[in-house]
Formats: sequence, structure tokens, C-alpha cells
Amino acid sequence: MPEDVFVKVVLKPGKEQSVRRLHPWIFSGAIRKIHGNPAEGEVVEVFSADSEFLAMGHYQIGSIAVRIFSFQQVKPDTDFWNDKISKAFAVRQSLQLAGNENTTVYRLVHGEGDGMPGLIVDYYNGLVVMQTHSIGMFLIRDQLAAAISKLYGPALKSIYDKSENTLPFKANTGAKNGFISGDLARVEVQENGYRFLIDVTTGQKTGFFIDQRDNRQLLKHYAAGKEVLNMFCYTGGFSVYALGGGAARVDSVDSSEQAMELTRQNVEANDMNNGRHNAITADAFGYLSDIKDTYDLIVLDPPAFAKHQDALNNALQAYKRMNAKAIEQIRSGGIIFTFSCSQVVSRENFRKAVFAAAANTGRHVRILHQLTQPPDHPVSIYHPEGEYLKGLVLQVE
Ligand code: SAH
Repeated sequence: MPEDVFVKVVLKPGKEQSVRRLHPWIFSGAIRKIHGNPAEGEVVEVFSADSEFLAMGHYQIGSIAVRIFSFQQVKPDTDFWNDKISKAFAVRQSLQLAGNENTTVYRLVHGEGDGMPGLIVDYYNGLVVMQTHSIGMFLIRDQLAAAISKLYGPALKSIYDKSENTLPFKANTGAKNGFISGDLARVEVQENGYRFLIDVTTGQKTGFFIDQRDNRQLLKHYAAGKEVLNMFCYTGGFSVYALGGGAARVDSVDSSEQAMELTRQNVEANDMNNGRHNAITADAFGYLSDIKDTYDLIVLDPPAFAKHQDALNNALQAYKRMNAKAIEQIRSGGIIFTFSCSQVVSRENFRKAVFAAAANTGRHVRILHQLTQPPDHPVSIYHPEGEYLKGLVLQVE
């Protein structure tokens, strides 16, 4: 059999440094020459200016030209991808997520953090949602789905591909969301023993914000007897935990009527209402302007305010304004869980925005916890960009 021949991408002198440090991206500006004309998503080999082999990855037109999946010369065949998926699974097993009866929802593959840039795979109690963010991963989705099926065996009922809105639209992939196997769209999952009903076909992201699991658990420990505001509640994750932790009252707020419906459903599914829960459809900024001394515990978990670098300043201003409203009006001794999931907002910038918000109010504010994403959303130490979720737990005197 003839050996596979891959297009060679040669870097400018010196640009091999970051690849040698195992950073998984090659920016287009680092490339001196491409030998051939690779199609988007094609596998390419990356060489230094001195013709030394560096890495293999998926090619794509755009600022990130190559997303590296191996720093060795390999055959990216079925065995290769099976092995990658199995390794990711082994990590989730060691975290006691895979096979855990109380938590049946977790992230199986977290892109760069699992050595698979461009691929997100979430497990929802027998249903898997794949989301490709690169053309290369999109093109091999059947191979990836086969690896996932092999891993779970008959326990896996469906695989849903939700890549329609995560691929660059200019690439014209024609990607449509749909089932690769099975047709199970709605599932009930458990997270730390709480029940959530999830529809992966309609929900945001892959259906549920799995990344807040540990932070919700922490919130639960602060909730007893408290009057709680869960702003940007979406599926009501934080609300369910707050009620579970014995909150006196929880007001869940989101601007989306659909989100409020999901929250109501999930509160019901856990049999927790007892008149303690209020579902309120409202805009955050309007709602937050009139909450003086109403709450002891406030959760602020907004959508990414900045998706791109050029929106950074506006995003930081928005974080500042929003946090200022909460810090200013929360009851004395109150606790605020505040988050940013914008990848372009660094931990330091987020903290500065919250600092500026606090300083404006003049109240005494302590940081009790500094939060991040859970270990099934791992960050490659060579790719700090992968750390996107930042949170602070504040105590306001
Ligand atoms: N905290 C949630 C995830 C939040 S996702 C969880 O743990 O699952 C962000 C949510 O913010 C979405 O549900 C979206 O509908 C809502 N949202 C976006 N803009 C808003 C606004 N201006 N006011 C209120 N809610 C908003």
C-alpha cells in the first residue's frame, strides 16, 4: 500500500519555537510556504525552516491555519482516533465522572485540553453531542462517531452532531445539525444527584452548561436560609442547587422565555418548588437596577460578552457595570458568585473589572473563592487560552 502523502507546511525561521513548546496552533503569519494546495480540513505536516518535522494537524483558511493533533509523524487512521478518544475517556474515569450514577453528564472531549483541537464531545446519559469547531474535525466526524460508539457500546443510544453554528460559515461546509446515529433528543440526566431535563437539539451550547458543575455544588453550601437571585439562569442549574441547599427563596431570571420554561421544568423535576421559586423573564440590566437589599446571594453568569478581541473593552465595561449593580445593592454580608466565560477576557482583566466595580461602590469586598472550569474541561498547560471560565465568590460587608 502506498504511504499517505501529506501536504507540507513550512514555517518561517524562528516560528517553530511555539510548536516545540507544544502549543497546538499555527498562525497563518508563521507560515513561509505551503507545498501544494491543501483543501480546508486536510491533514498537513508542519516543518521548521530547517526542514525538521514538527507536527501534524488540520489545515484551515483563517488566522489559525493549522490545528495540531500530533507532535509525532503518525497515521491519523481509525486506530489513532480510537486511541485519542479512549485516553480522554480514561481521564473522565479517573475523575469518577464516567460510570457515576449521581452524575450522568460530563464532557468527554475538550478540544486542545484533550489533544483534539476543534472537537467538543459531551456525554448526556446515553446520548452524545459532538460539536466540531474546525473543518478538519467536521470532515472526520463519522470516524470520530465510530470511535465514540465503540467506546460506549450498546449503552450509547444516540450521537447528535451540533456543528451547524460552530464552523466558519465562509467554508461553506453545508453542515446541518442532525443525528449521526439514533434519534434520542431529550434526556434526563443527573448532576450530583439533581435531575435535569435536556433537549440537545434546541438548547444552547450542547444543551447544558456542564462547566458549572463544581461551582453549583459550592453555591449549595452557601444557600441555606438565603434569598437568592440566579441571574442568567438558563436551565436553572444554580437555582436547583440553591433550593437543594435550603434557600429560603430563589428568583431565577433570564431574558429568554424558553430558558424560563426549562428552569421551571427542572425545579419541578427535583420536587423543590414549595412556593420558594420564582421564574422571572426579564432583561438583566433592567432587573438589576432595582434590587436594593433584596438578596443575600446573587449569581451572575452572563453569556460571553466578548467573542472576539475587538469587543474586549466593551465587554469589560459591561462586566464592570453589572457587578457594580450587584455589589452596590446586595444585603450586608451578602455573597456574589460572578463569572465570565469569554475566552478573550483573561482572569486578570476580569478581576480588574470586578475590582473597579467594587471600588465604585466603596463597600468592603473580600474574595472568598477564585473559580474556574471543572477537570472534565481540562486546559493544556501549553495552551493557556483554553482556560475560559473565570469566577469569583465575593463577600460584601
Ligand atoms: N447560568 C447558566 C448559564 C447561563 S447562559 C447555567 O448555569 O446553566 C447565559 C444565559 O443568559 C442565557 O440563558 C441567555 O438567555 C441569558 N441572557 C442573555 N442576555 C441576557 C440579558 N440581557 N438579560 C437576561 N438574560 C440574558
